[in-house]
Amino acid sequence: MKPITIGVLSYQGTVIEHIKALSQLEGVTPMEVKTLPALQAVDGLILPGGESTTIAKLLNIFELMEPLRQRILDGMPVWGTCAGEILLAKEIIGEEPHLGVMDFSVRRNAYGRQIDSFTQYAPITGISETPVELVFIRAPWIESVGEKAQVICQVNGHAVAAKQDNMLATSFHPEFTQDLTVHRWFAQQIEQYKYR
Ligand code: GLN
Repeated sequence: MKPITIGVLSYQGTVIEHIKALSQLEGVTPMEVKTLPALQAVDGLILPGGESTTIAKLLNIFELMEPLRQRILDGMPVWGTCAGEILLAKEIIGEEPHLGVMDFSVRRNAYGRQIDSFTQYAPITGISETPVELVFIRAPWIESVGEKAQVICQVNGHAVAAKQDNMLATSFHPEFTQDLTVHRWFAQQIEQYKYR
């Protein structure tokens, strides 16, 4: 794999977990991103899990919301896990959207209280035919999808991952497992984008 730098938006949430996963991939330099120069330095970006409202607030305070949206629209590969998926959604049920770049609507905390955290196994179309360990923590699900996005994973009848051009969103947290499949796939997308 040729050298690439993958950023992790580092205001709040599963930052360390993503950095640890990325640092196990050959050719990948992980980098924390909080500022505009850091955003400009990375070849691709992960939006971690956490609290989407908090992360959105900090994106606005650091004046990174617009530059980030622009880099995504310019083609930079981006992957949002859980809260990150919510940040990417065009529509959030009952709330205003944040980045609003992916053509689907999400329902926050969709699984309710009793089963707000659980693990499942399912294949992810285009990423892994073998079922992957999926960890859900107060997760959203994808309620409905527009024409531009494609559902690539379903669990118990609900869409939990989608792809659209350079963007990937997952309701679950591969960074909380030992399985590097999704991180490796994302790194390959970034390599192709950087050395195209
Ligand atoms: N419940 C959080 C939110 O709505 C997401 C949880 C997570 O990222 N694990 O932002």
